[in-house]
Amino acid sequence: MYALGMSDPWQCFRLRTRRDWAEGLATFHLDGETPEFRAGQFLRLGVDLGEREPLSRPYSVASAPGEPLEFFIVRVDGGALTPRLFDLPLGAELKVHPRAGGVFTLGMVPDAETLWFISTGTGLAPFVSMLRQGEPFERFERVVVVQCVRQPEQLCYVEELNALAAAKPGKIRQVNLATRAPADGVLFCRITQAFTDGSLEEAAQATLTPETAQVMLCGNPDMLIDMQALLGERGMRKNRKREPGHITVEKYW
Ligand SMILES: Cc1cc2nc3c(=O)[nH]c(=O)nc-3n(C[C@H](O)[C@H](O)[C@H](O)COP(=O)(O)OP(=O)(O)OC[C@H]3O[C@@H](n4cnc5c(N)ncnc54)[C@H](O)[C@@H]3O)c2cc1C
Repeated sequence: MYALGMSDPWQCFRLRTRRDWAEGLATFHLDGETPEFRAGQFLRLGVDLGEREPLSRPYSVASAPGEPLEFFIVRVDGGALTPRLFDLPLGAELKVHPRAGGVFTLGMVPDAETLWFISTGTGLAPFVSMLRQGEPFERFERVVVVQCVRQPEQLCYVEELNALAAAKPGKIRQVNLATRAPADGVLFCRITQAFTDGSLEEAAQATLTPETAQVMLCGNPDMLIDMQALLGERGMRKNRKREPGHITVEKYW
């Protein structure tokens, strides 16, 4: 029970549609009043189980600020929330805490020639929001969108990114990787290996150096650790408030 006089901050939303990209990997479209957030931030999304607080987790918003809320979510088998989210029928109620959080935004990132968005799995979500919002194209000559998944059919938002690239010639380069099976136009290795053997920069036709690049990393914790170490060997370091660098990181777990 809430203490008398305290209003419930959680907002009600409805599941409007779900786009399934692959088994256990989907985009959830919600109906409701979109809270204020900056592209790259997260909101807490949950379900009401009749407890004091909804069962919730943080999720990067994939939609652009001001647009209907969209979340890109993978089902974690045995997880407390995600199996429930994937069981929800269309029209079901969801709870969102309207206070956005996180500093994984372009506000943290100094100007550079090339902005690199490097993601594994649903780590693509905050980048989708930033690309839709449009700021990357105003501040950087080009944006490289790197997406790494296990199976090629788990590559997501590719059509939308292709359409955006066609609308903004020369501005966007996509590099897709799959670690478990090969496919045309997809690098068959991990991001770290593609970086080490040069195929990542070759596919992007752009360099990853302190002089040319800003890098945003999001997703699997091992990728974040390994990429930061590799980029560090090239003299790139984390962006800090008082000491600008070249790398900005969002850790999902
Ligand atoms: C800032 C932030 C933003 C996030 N944004 C997203 C997002 O946009 N989309 C998204 O799918 N998740 C996102 N997450 C992860 C999300 O908050 C939950 O941790 C995840 O959905 C699992 O919740 P659960 O209750 O089902 O699992 P829990 O019962 O909480 O189990 C947590 C365990 O699941 C594993 N896990 C968590 N996330 C993943 C994942 N993505 N892939 C594989 N294993 C995972 C880890 O081992 C973790 O310890 C984000 C996390 C943070 C901190």
